[in-house]
Amino acid sequence: MRKVLVVHYDEIALKGKNRGYFEDRLLHGIQNLFRDVGGIAVRKLYGRFLVSLEKVSLPEADVVLRLTRLPGLRYLLEGRETDGAWESLLAAVDEVLPPEGAARTFGVRAKRADKNYPKRSAEIEREMGGHVLAQRAWTVDLGDPDVWIRIELVNGRGLVCTHRHEGPGGLPTGVSGRGLALLSGGIDSPVAAFMMMTRGLTVSCIHFHSAPYTNERSQDKVRDLARLLVRFQPTLDLTMVPFAEPIQQSIVRDAPQALRVILYRRFMVRLANRAAVEARAACIISGESLGQVASQTIENLTSVQAVSGLPILRPLIGRSKSEIIGVARRIETYETSILPHDDCCSYLMPRSPATRSTPAELEVAERVLDVDALVDAAWEKRDRETLRL
Ligand code: ATP
Ligand code: MG
Repeated sequence: MRKVLVVHYDEIALKGKNRGYFEDRLLHGIQNLFRDVGGIAVRKLYGRFLVSLEKVSLPEADVVLRLTRLPGLRYLLEGRETDGAWESLLAAVDEVLPPEGAARTFGVRAKRADKNYPKRSAEIEREMGGHVLAQRAWTVDLGDPDVWIRIELVNGRGLVCTHRHEGPGGLPTGVSGRGLALLSGGIDSPVAAFMMMTRGLTVSCIHFHSAPYTNERSQDKVRDLARLLVRFQPTLDLTMVPFAEPIQQSIVRDAPQALRVILYRRFMVRLANRAAVEARAACIISGESLGQVASQTIENLTSVQAVSGLPILRPLIGRSKSEIIGVARRIETYETSILPHDDCCSYLMPRSPATRSTPAELEVAERVLDVDALVDAAWEKRDRETLRL
C-alpha cells in the first residue's frame, strides 16, 4: 500500500484526438512543479494521474498546495494505492478512516473503470459502508457527508481516498500558446490574467507606470501581484514601461481632455503589441468589464481595439464586480489589489472622460502627437524581469 495523490483533470476528456497531447502537457506541468525538489513520480492511469508521495522531500501539504494551483487540474484526492484485491481495499480504508470524533456522517462512492472487477460499484459501496459502520458510530449520508470515502478501480489498481482538494480546472498551461496581459494594480487585471492561464495560455505581463508622478510603491504592488500569479505557471515575465514621460505628458498638453483615458489606452495597446512580439504572444489580455467605467463602453473598447493588430481578449467582459471579487479572493490577489496605491495622479486624469469616442475622432486627436516617436521613446526605457515561484 502506498500513499498517493490522484489527479483528476478537467476538460481534457473532451478533447478527442488531441487528448494524448493535452494529457502530456498536464503531466509535464506536474513534473515541472517539483523540479526544484528533485522531481516527483507521476504515472498515467486511465483518465487520471497518480502522484506517488513516497520519495518526495516536501511535506504532503505543500505538494497538495502546489498541485491545486495547476491549470487543468480539476480536483485532487489524497489516499492509498493498493493492488485492488478486496482485502487490500478494506485495509486501505482502515488506514485512511478519520477518528470517530472527526465526523458524524459518511458516504462511500465507488468508480469502476475496470469493468471486469468481481464486485459492481453499488456492491462495493454497500459492503464498504457496512465495514465502516462496524467501526464507527457514524450514519450514512450520500448528499453532503462529513467524510467521503472514494474508491477507484482503474488499470488493475485499487485507489482509496478521503480528502478532496479543488484545483483551478480549465486547460493545461501552454496548450493555447502565449498571451500578454495588461496588468494594473487593480482587482480586475490579475483575475483576467488568471482566467486566461486556465484556458491554456502561458501569460506574460506588462505594466505602465507613471513615475515620477506616482511612487515606487505602486510598481512594487504590481510586482507583488505578478508574484501571486506566478503560482499558476512556472515563470512569468513582467515588462515595466514608463508611461508618464513622454506619453501622458504629451497627451495632457496637446489632446482634448475628455479623450485622455482612451488615448492612454491606445498607447498602452500599441506598446503591448510590441511587447507581444518580444514575448511571442498571439493575443493581448485586459481586465475590462463592459460598462464598469467610462473607458469600458462598446464605443471606447472599439476605439482601443482599432490600434491593435492582435486580438484583445477580455475574459471579464460579462462579469459583475462581485463575481470578479469572488475570483480575486479565491486566487488570493484581492488583499494585495485593494491596498492603497496611486494608480495615476489627478493631474493626469480628466475631469469627465468621454464615454463615446470613435476611432476617427481619436485619429484627429492623435494627429498633433508624434505617435511613433512617443511609442519608441517609452519602449526604449522598458525594463523586463522574470519572476519565479
Ligand atoms: P483593474 O482593476 O484591472 O485596474 P479597472 O477597473 O481599474 O481595472 P481600468 O483602469 O479602466 O479598469 O483598466 C482597464 C484595464 O486596462 C485593466 O484591467 C488592465 O488590463 C488595463 N490597464 C489599466 N491601467 C493599466 C496600467 N497602468 N498598466 C497596465 N495595464 C493597465
Ligand atoms: Mg485600474
